[in-house]
Amino acid sequence: MKLYGMPLAACFMVAVLMACREFCPFWPALSFIETFWLFLAGLIGGIRLPDLDLRIPGLSHRSAITHSCLPAVLLWVLGDAFIAAGLALGIALHLSSDLQPKSWTGGALIKLPILGSIGMLSPLWLIVNIVGCFAMVIEVISGESVDARQAIVMISVIGSGWYFLQEEKRPLLPLMTLGFAILLVHAVKGGTLSVKMVWQYFA
Ligand SMILES: [Zn+2]
Repeated sequence: MKLYGMPLAACFMVAVLMACREFCPFWPALSFIETFWLFLAGLIGGIRLPDLDLRIPGLSHRSAITHSCLPAVLLWVLGDAFIAAGLALGIALHLSSDLQPKSWTGGALIKLPILGSIGMLSPLWLIVNIVGCFAMVIEVISGESVDARQAIVMISVIGSGWYFLQEEKRPLLPLMTLGFAILLVHAVKGGTLSVKMVWQYFA
């Protein structure tokens, strides 16, 4: 239940939003919260989502499918950009927590479907996918106003707060990830920082 709890809570939040859209007579006045609500739902869902591989038949623990930015990218393409951005941040926090095993053996290693464990490439896999998650968050929020981005920073801090207090035994790397994400969100000024710009900078 612990594993399903947060993804289920995220689904419940989306269901509440859809019900409000449909039935709440005051919704037009409240609709400005929609973006933040969806981002928070994604964040809550994403923090535990990678470990659903423990319950999906055919996947080994630390499957490369769930321990990657792929679920967030799929949601971005098929669903809503703000849930996807929240999900990407949640997955980035989870992956940075998974970067601190006691040793890089057995259950700590990333497993590709069919091919199996990628061995000592596992930390690199996790880092590349954390960067991919960051890229998604930047791209989605780069079009938002400064006020909206500040609200997203607040939501990120509050939404992740309980996780660090209650769940995370080794919070150092996830906290660094959160701090870096907040800096990025803050740095995206007037939509001028985008993945394309960062790419051009390094190219
Ligand atoms: Zn994991």
